[in-house]
Amino acid sequence: MIQVGETLLTRSELPENPVVLEVRGEDGRHHTVVTERLRGGKVRMTCTCADSAAGGWCRHRIELLCLRYDALLERTEELEFHFEDLVMGTPLADLADEVDMALSDYGQALEALERKRPAAIENGTLRAIAALADDLADAARQLDRALDRFRQRLAGAPM
Ligand SMILES: [Zn+2]
Repeated sequence: MIQVGETLLTRSELPENPVVLEVRGEDGRHHTVVTERLRGGKVRMTCTCADSAAGGWCRHRIELLCLRYDALLERTEELEFHFEDLVMGTPLADLADEVDMALSDYGQALEALERKRPAAIENGTLRAIAALADDLADAARQLDRALDRFRQRLAGAPM
């Protein structure tokens, strides 16, 4: 037990900063996500995957920030506790939620359009397709904006 102020904490309750997590990508490769809490509620979060290098963001970080741990190689309550201690309630976590919702809306709009894709041009189909295309355009713009904000926030805490 370690005394911090008035309270006694077990070692696992002490803040850990940074937190290093290993995730398995969809391609089976392993990536390392390092999360560090900086001053002023800023969070620095990096991932070693190719998507991160190419696009400035990746789904591994979105998943973790949305507190979904399915991709973790080693899942322990202690690691999750330490991670959540660093990210919960931060602007980065809020933006990740926004991106997560926008990704899902975009995926649904894309699917809806593909499902309704008509074989021929018949009466009424063009109007229906136009409405679905409008939905897709809206979803794409929302996702684009959400990703911009997320990338900027990630880049705002430089290495
Ligand atoms: Zn990644």
